[in-house]
Amino acid sequence: MSDQAFYSGLQSKLETLRTEGLFKPERVIASRQGSEVVSQDGRTLINMCANNYLGLSGDRETSDAAAAALEKYGYGLSSVRFICGTQTVHKELEQKLSEFLGTEDTILYAAAFDANGGVFEPLFDENDAIISDALNHASIIDGVRLCKAARYRYANNDMADLEKQLVAATEAGKRHKIIVTDGVFSMDGTIAQLDKIVALAEKYGALTMIDESHASGFMGKTGRGTHEHCGVIGKIDIITGTLGKALGGAMGGFTSGRKEVIETLRQKSRPYLFSNTLAPMIAGASLAVLDRISKSTELRDRLMDNTAYFRKEIERIGFTIKPGTHPVVPVMLFDAPIAQKFAARMFELGVLLSGFFYPVVPMGQARVRVQLSAAHTREQLDTVLKAFEQAGKELGILKNQ
Ligand SMILES: *Cc1c(COP(=O)(O)O)cnc(C)c1O
Repeated sequence: MSDQAFYSGLQSKLETLRTEGLFKPERVIASRQGSEVVSQDGRTLINMCANNYLGLSGDRETSDAAAAALEKYGYGLSSVRFICGTQTVHKELEQKLSEFLGTEDTILYAAAFDANGGVFEPLFDENDAIISDALNHASIIDGVRLCKAARYRYANNDMADLEKQLVAATEAGKRHKIIVTDGVFSMDGTIAQLDKIVALAEKYGALTMIDESHASGFMGKTGRGTHEHCGVIGKIDIITGTLGKALGGAMGGFTSGRKEVIETLRQKSRPYLFSNTLAPMIAGASLAVLDRISKSTELRDRLMDNTAYFRKEIERIGFTIKPGTHPVVPVMLFDAPIAQKFAARMFELGVLLSGFFYPVVPMGQARVRVQLSAAHTREQLDTVLKAFEQAGKELGILKNQ
């Protein structure tokens, strides 16, 4: 407490964030997560900004499954996995995830952030090359930093640049090369071109890794993920993902792939070795979620119907969106102050969504990001679309106005 300059330095940096409009306040919700939430002030809002793609986060069946696992396995383990923190429910979930993803084996983590943080360093060293998409998630960037492998970066979703980097890594004589990409990029809803990536990997003898955090549970005909969507199930070497988005929404992550990869991670991956086991109620609920979505595609089908409906209607009203098919729908407002005003007005109109401006997205690309859920009813979506139309008219930003 004797270094006052330290604290005043932090105060002035926080003040700068506030004056630059970059400070992130937290919205407080007083209800379960869902397509409607009650805010702290008692207002009911339609929620368009959760990663709750299948609507399972606040869902009764999910919390009942968690309660059953809580009852059977208790609250926690007070141990890492390899000492006395592995229960049957953890092994069952790992097996179920492998089946679901079409892989040999899976290892659980406390978060996808840890899965990505702990995947590179045990598998690659200075003789190897990691070839990473420029827009990959922060946890991939951090994980790569913890590893001694040479780093190559390719422009987002740019297959010509990816090939250039593969050539460069080959010419540098790198032993193993791995191409790493988000399956889906969450700012734009861009879907990685995994068919082309796999073809390039085959041409240059490279491995492939995808982060399926915005894909597992709903991308592809049966919701297995981007690899199903792109027709390359069984051709991806390493899959990471989260249990904290579509697959129940609590927390937890995983890495999935060949047996020898997963076994190596169990022996050497630091976030796994030195961090507590995933709470058994989360493992139990995740298992129930996987059972449910393996039996029926009803939820992902409804999500995709909602997505197609919203994308069509929002354009009809006169907004510009990033084209695509993913339930992340970036509604482009381009100008940062307008995006801020727009999100604030939507909040007054009872719609919760998030605005993004520079430096989170490129300059001149300000937007509000809508995320659809299987839990949204058509009525809720129509209410949201009306609010969009009203706020758009008020701010004079509709195309056909
Ligand atoms: C959300 C996200 C993560 C982090 O997931 P957690 O389980 O919350 O740590 C990792 N990668 C991507 C691509 C994500 O979108």
